[in-house]
Amino acid sequence: MASLSLHNLNKIYDNNVQAVFDFNLDVKDGELIVLVGPSGCGKSTTLRMVAGLEDITSGTLIIDGKDVTQMPAKDRDIAMVFQNYALYAHMTVYENMAFSLTLRKEDPNVIHEKVLAAAEILGLTDQLNKKPRQLSGGQRQRVAMGRAIVRKPKVFLFDEPLSNLDAKLRGATRREILLLHKRLGATMLYVTHDQIEALTLADRIVCMSMGYVQQVGTPLELYDNPANIFVASFIGLPPMNMFDARVEDERLVCDGFDYPLSESERALLRDYVGKTVTLGVRPENIVPDNNGYLKASVTLNENLGQNTLVHGTVGGHKMTAKVREWCNYKKGDEVAFCLNRVHFFDKETTNAIR
Ligand code: ADP
Repeated sequence: MASLSLHNLNKIYDNNVQAVFDFNLDVKDGELIVLVGPSGCGKSTTLRMVAGLEDITSGTLIIDGKDVTQMPAKDRDIAMVFQNYALYAHMTVYENMAFSLTLRKEDPNVIHEKVLAAAEILGLTDQLNKKPRQLSGGQRQRVAMGRAIVRKPKVFLFDEPLSNLDAKLRGATRREILLLHKRLGATMLYVTHDQIEALTLADRIVCMSMGYVQQVGTPLELYDNPANIFVASFIGLPPMNMFDARVEDERLVCDGFDYPLSESERALLRDYVGKTVTLGVRPENIVPDNNGYLKASVTLNENLGQNTLVHGTVGGHKMTAKVREWCNYKKGDEVAFCLNRVHFFDKETTNAIR
């Protein structure tokens, strides 16, 4: 296992599209990093530069203390798991897992041991003689991971490994990857567009947009202290509610309601008096309160079992509250809420005001 450093990585493709701008990250030995962001934000390009599948236009890539920026993929000692598994259809599970070691001409006894050990970890012991077509999607994904594990690489790279699985299998396989990471203690770089995967798997998340890193931090840091409006909106479902808010001395004037500022919030917004900021509030922090200052007109009541999504409008604005009980609001009901924990963003820079 190894540490990994990406210093000022840039990628400009031949058609002059710059996919990645100044990417910086130090990954600790044994850390699971998830790169997350919408389609086209540069996640796969970053991963493929680490893998050696794309040239690095500029910057430095260090694996285990060694500069590998110019090193060919096959010498980097990394293993990549893809969403389409890329298994050999004519080979058995055993042969698929043994393949890279056979190519390296390792001792057949050692290969046998490694394949059996990986199969044990992945619960594939009974499947070793089957061909990929006889397996479920989840099992195929495990074989693809098995192929990576037997090589004992310095770094594991995952490129959207769950996106071909149905929702139930996705959850199960995600939990297997988490257990696998704990068991192997391996350094992993994992790419997904799914913020749930990022929140559940990552030691640290790297959230990207349009080729730029927006924020690096633990899942809780990104959820609780998003650096800007992009991260605040991308992480968390339903997304954070956003309102335009004019700052006055003791309150924020929003379309449809006034938000009373606490002492510390007033201090935070001192330089913004008279200006408009963006007020962000997560759905679970919009709490029903008979004396509440935010009065919404309900448009839809969605019961999820443990809680209820209450969709409504306030002023000219849509909003969603996540209420921790079973509610039976009807369309047109007026419901009063308070806001529990709010975030403020500069409207011009979109950065969090801290
Ligand atoms: P993501 O993995 O976040 O979906 P990608 O890294 O695949 O994003 O792509 C980032 C940007 O680079 C996109 O604008 C995409 O169109 C562009 N891109 C990706 N691969 C190539 C390529 N081989 N040639 C030119 N542009 C590419």
